[in-house]
Amino acid sequence: MPRPLFATIHLDSMQHNLAQARSCAPYARIWAVVKANAYGHGLERAMRGFATADGLALIEVDYAVRLRESGWIKPLLLLEGFFDASDVPLLAEHNINTAVHCIEQVKMLEYTQLYRPIDVHLKMNTGMNRLGFQPGEYAAAYARLRAIPGIRNITHMTHFANADELEHPRLTIADQVRRFQHGADGLPGERSLSNSGGVLHQSDLGDSLSNDWVRPGIMLYGGTPGGRSAQDFGLLPTMTLRSEIIGMQEIVAGDTVGYGSRFEASGPMTVGVVACGYADGYPRHAPHGTPVVVDGVRTTLVGRVSMDMMTVDLTPVRNARVGSKVTLWGDGLPIDEVAQSAGTIGYELMCALAGRVRVQEGPMGSDG
Ligand SMILES: *Cc1c(COP(=O)(O)O)cnc(C)c1O
Repeated sequence: MPRPLFATIHLDSMQHNLAQARSCAPYARIWAVVKANAYGHGLERAMRGFATADGLALIEVDYAVRLRESGWIKPLLLLEGFFDASDVPLLAEHNINTAVHCIEQVKMLEYTQLYRPIDVHLKMNTGMNRLGFQPGEYAAAYARLRAIPGIRNITHMTHFANADELEHPRLTIADQVRRFQHGADGLPGERSLSNSGGVLHQSDLGDSLSNDWVRPGIMLYGGTPGGRSAQDFGLLPTMTLRSEIIGMQEIVAGDTVGYGSRFEASGPMTVGVVACGYADGYPRHAPHGTPVVVDGVRTTLVGRVSMDMMTVDLTPVRNARVGSKVTLWGDGLPIDEVAQSAGTIGYELMCALAGRVRVQEGPMGSDG
């Protein structure tokens, strides 16, 4: 028997969440963001789960090529563009849309002979100060790109720093939208602004946020960028991480558990050992109290997470035994809750799922 730890990917939930994104932004086309191995879900699997998306967006050109070779014929977008001039011919060959965020990329496009036209997303830095042209230099960058014969459509793009919080004290979506409109004023072309946060808040922002293309990531995987819960937004988990109890210990007051003896029992309790550790992608810094579900009962982590195992409090779980089913996150335990307890975000947990964890597909509610 293999180790009882596996991740179940719910393709039906991926489809459902994509439909939720459509209902939030009904007039926009959707780039389903599949960077980082589709947030840990697997690229080919995401291609099937998001088959009805209008395009797929990711980071690496070789993965974009892999999607083409796997049969994805709709648009593809490289969110950070290309990293070297030698990648440009691949864009043309495979019809891959690229972001252009800096003048060096413009120069590489100017010096490369394009045998087939390519579409680009020109990126504006509207306050995030990561990638993109400043609003004041944007029109000039646009003009240079427009002058390159091999460039076909130019879509205007920016990215929100605080899409999870409408009234951020330092920088709001509205501030960024204002800068974007100003910087791209009068330039022809489609527009793409929203990540999941923007999509989820589309109804609050109304017409001020008009997107031809939206770029949801985390919401398609049943997480949120922060703020309200995924459940509030009608999103379903797409990844359930499950394992089993592989050992038990009865301890008494004063006994400690695990490395560093960090947890000390205040009374008699049953400790269960779960086959899942930080080498599987479970966060080592998850503290005592992080939620875990055993045989359908919510309980907590105790002691330090070790490489291949972790320990949980089985005291509230009646009839717990070796072989009891454990849910680490997903169906029955929102990943955002686990992440928050561990001081991180659901994105990081999904992306960090280790290669050694067996992955299978199945609907929610199945015991996977
Ligand atoms: C990752 C990313 C997204 C998706 O962000 P989510 O918060 O996961 O929705 C959208 N646009 C760009 C440019 C990104 O890098």
